[in-house]
Amino acid sequence: MNIGKYTFNEFKELAQCFHGYPAPGLLIGGYMVEAVKRKLPEGTLFEALIETTKCLPDAVQLLTLCSTGNAWMRVTNLGRYAVSLYDKYSFDGWRAAIDLEKLEKFPEVKAWFLKQKTKQEQDTDKLFVEIEKAGDQYLTITPVHIRPQYLKKKTSSAIVACPICREAYPKNDGAICRGCQGENPYRSVIQSPGYREPSPGLEYVPIEKAIGETALHDMTRIIPGKSKGPEFKAGQKIEAGDLCRLQQMGRSSIYVEGRTNVDTNKIKNL
Ligand SMILES: [Zn+2]
Repeated sequence: MNIGKYTFNEFKELAQCFHGYPAPGLLIGGYMVEAVKRKLPEGTLFEALIETTKCLPDAVQLLTLCSTGNAWMRVTNLGRYAVSLYDKYSFDGWRAAIDLEKLEKFPEVKAWFLKQKTKQEQDTDKLFVEIEKAGDQYLTITPVHIRPQYLKKKTSSAIVACPICREAYPKNDGAICRGCQGENPYRSVIQSPGYREPSPGLEYVPIEKAIGETALHDMTRIIPGKSKGPEFKAGQKIEAGDLCRLQQMGRSSIYVEGRTNVDTNKIKNL
C-alpha cells in the first residue's frame, strides 16, 4: 500500500535520507499520518499533536508542513504511539493509534511493536514486507477535539541580553536567562564571544552562605504533572529553613543580589 503520494519503497528511501535509516516506526508512522490526513476535509489548515518522541515526529515532518520549528507540531510525550492532526481554528481532528487487537493478525509488526524479539531475532525484510502489506489495517482512527487551553501559544516577550552569558533571551524568563538560572545542560559555563564578567550586582554563592541574602531571580521546582510555579521569588530573603528545599531542587549554589565586595572568580568557576 502506498504512503500518500509515495510508493512504500520511495518512502523507505526518504526515511533513510531524513532519519538515517528506514526505521520500522517511521514507515508505520507514515501510514498513520496519511490515514488521519485523509479524514480532514480538503484544504484544511491543520496542525499535529504527537504522543511520543520516537519516530512519529519525523513521519509528520516528511508528510506534512508541520514541524517543531514552525510550531505547527507539538510533541507531548505520553509514551503512546499516536498522532492527531486537527483543524488549527476549530481544534477538531482525527487521531491514529495502533490497535493491539487488530495487530494480532500481523505477527511481525506485533513482535516489533511490543519488543518481543531482540534485534538479532528480528527478520527485518519480513517485517518490512508485512508493514507494506498491512498498510493502515491495524490502526484505530478516532475523532478528537483538542483542548484549546492546551494549545495556547506562549506570549512573546521582549528580548534582552543575559547579564551572565551575554546571550539573548526572553525577558519574561527572569533577571538572567534560564540557562544561567541552573537549567544549563553543559558541564561548564558557555563563554560565547560576547561573554563578560557578570556585573557587580550579581553574586553566586553556596546555599549555606546564602542565608539572609536576597534571591536574584525566580526559582522553579518542576514536579511532573503539577503546575510549576516559582518555589522562590526574586527578591525573597533566603532563610535557614529554605536550604533543604533548595537542595531538593538540585541547587547547591544560587545567585543573590550582590554585596559590595564581589568575588567574580566564584562565578567564573561555576
Ligand atoms: Zn545567561
